[in-house]
Amino acid sequence: MFKLVQPAPKHGTVTIVGAGPGDADLLTIKALRCIQSADIILYDRLVSQDIRDLFPTETPAFYVGKAAGNHCIPQAQLNQLLIEKAQKGYSICRLKGGDPFVFGRGGEEMLALHQAGIQVEVVPGVTAGVGAAAYSGIPVTHRGLAQACTFITGHGEKSLDVDWSSLAKMQHTLVFYMGLGNLADITKQLTHHGMCADMPAALIENGCRKDQRTFTGQLSNLEQIAKQHQLRSPTLIVIGRVVELAESLHWFASLTSTNAQIAQMTA
Ligand code: SAH
Repeated sequence: MFKLVQPAPKHGTVTIVGAGPGDADLLTIKALRCIQSADIILYDRLVSQDIRDLFPTETPAFYVGKAAGNHCIPQAQLNQLLIEKAQKGYSICRLKGGDPFVFGRGGEEMLALHQAGIQVEVVPGVTAGVGAAAYSGIPVTHRGLAQACTFITGHGEKSLDVDWSSLAKMQHTLVFYMGLGNLADITKQLTHHGMCADMPAALIENGCRKDQRTFTGQLSNLEQIAKQHQLRSPTLIVIGRVVELAESLHWFASLTSTNAQIAQMTA
């Protein structure tokens, strides 16, 4: 005599996926598979249109994006939403710009999901600090120019909690994420702590996208460049001698030269 066994309830899973900085071809195969097989997609503001175009039309996709100072859904509410959807048995693709663990709050979401007993996977993505720099002809390390690279958040609720004195002395590449709004403070602090005013520096807007704009200059004129060209988010700040290489190594601007805005400019 057979006992009637109820099928085990399906447990939902969440995959926190890095979408990279914009170019859909920079998605990993694993990221694309997850996008194609998920029951639901929850995506951020930094997930580019080219990548959103790859979402299967039949898959519900929800924008849960955040812009600086404009949190569409508070993080705690977003964590709760993920938990509820997963508890209903859905497999969720939680898609984030760049890499989810680089200034992406992926760790916070994962902790909340783990606490709720939800299974989570992570798919790393190309972070903007590497991708946008590469698409501007800037290797973040280069023999003789930079032996290391530091990723720093340029965003602070009140002031930036950064050890400026150490950063200014490091003689290696500094990459600031979310720093455009605090650009004046960043350049002032670095100069004040001893970095040369003529240190090469770059601003990269919409890195790895068709409308990428890269401007190179020096620590001393970065702010002026940002104002003059009305740079908008997402913009990355790269400071260090590796920026000198952009003039000879740039390649993306020439490939996409149909768009006049794309010219790589030296101030
Ligand atoms: N997790 C993301 C970073 C999120 S923080 C990553 O790994 O790339 C958001 C900041 O990243 C933006 O303010 C900007 O400074 C930078 N950024 C993200 N995408 C970018 C892009 N395509 N071009 C330039 N900067 C970008």
